[in-house]
Amino acid sequence: MNVRDIIDHHTHTCHSPDALENATFAAYLEAATARGVPGLMFTDHVDMDTPVALFQTFPDYTAYAKMLATWAKKTNFDLRMGVEVGLQPHLTAQLETFLARHPFDVVIGSIHLGDGLDFYNGDFFQGKTQQEAYRRYFEIVRDVIVSMDTFDIFGHFDYIIRYGGYADKHFETADYDDLILPALGTLAKRGKALEINTSGFRYGLGVTHPKLDILRRFKSLGGTYVTLGSDAHDVADLQAHFPEALAMLKQAGFTAVTTYKHRIPTLHPLD
Ligand SMILES: [Zn+2]
Ligand SMILES: [Zn+2]
Repeated sequence: MNVRDIIDHHTHTCHSPDALENATFAAYLEAATARGVPGLMFTDHVDMDTPVALFQTFPDYTAYAKMLATWAKKTNFDLRMGVEVGLQPHLTAQLETFLARHPFDVVIGSIHLGDGLDFYNGDFFQGKTQQEAYRRYFEIVRDVIVSMDTFDIFGHFDYIIRYGGYADKHFETADYDDLILPALGTLAKRGKALEINTSGFRYGLGVTHPKLDILRRFKSLGGTYVTLGSDAHDVADLQAHFPEALAMLKQAGFTAVTTYKHRIPTLHPLD
C-alpha cells in the first residue's frame, strides 16, 4: 500500500479545544482532495473528569455525526467519525454509555492524565524524579490497558516523553519492561491496535510514539494491528511523517497497516 493511501487515523478538527480554528472539516477535505488521500478519520477529544479547564467540554456527537454525514453526501468522500477518549479506570461505565450512543468508526484510548494530574502543566512530575515519573506513568498504562476495554487503538503509548521538561526525555525501554511487556501483551491478546503516532517529530523528540523497540515488542508478543496517526491539530500536519512511520512498521516486522470502519479493523498489505 502506498503511503498516500493510508488514512490518517488520528486527526483533530476545530471541534477539539486545542486544535486550530481553521482546522475545519472543509479544510481537511480540501487538503485530502489535493493530496489524493482516499479518506479521512476524525478523532476529536473527549476527556471526561479532567482538571484541565480547556478540555472540560466536548462536541455534541449527535450533531457532529449529522454534520459529517452531510459533508460525505455532498462530496462523496469517505469520511469517518472516530474519537480520542481519555482513559481513566473510574470512567469505564461512563465511557461505555457514551460510546454506545454514537456510531463511531474507531475509538482511540489515550492517557492524558496520571493519577488525575496533568502532564502538560507539570503537575504529574512534581515531587518525582524522572525515573519515578516514567515508572508511575507506565504502571498507569499497564493498569488502564488491563482494566479497560473501551477502545480499539491505544494512542501515543509513551506520551510521557512529550513533557516533564527534562534535558533528555528519552528512556531505555528495558528499564520499564516489567510494565511495558504486560501492557503490550494484553493489547495483542485482546486484538487491540497500537498506534504509531508521528507527533513526536513535531515535538522535536526525533521519534514516534511509541519508538521502534516498543513496536518490535508488540510484534513479538503477537500484536497484529497497527494504525498510523499524525495527531494533527492543524490541516498542514495531515499524514505528517507517514513515510518514516511506514518504514518503522516494516522494520518491526509488520506486513500490513490497519484501518477501521464501524470499529472493525481491516489489514492492508504493505508493498
Ligand atoms: Zn492524545
Ligand atoms: Zn490526539
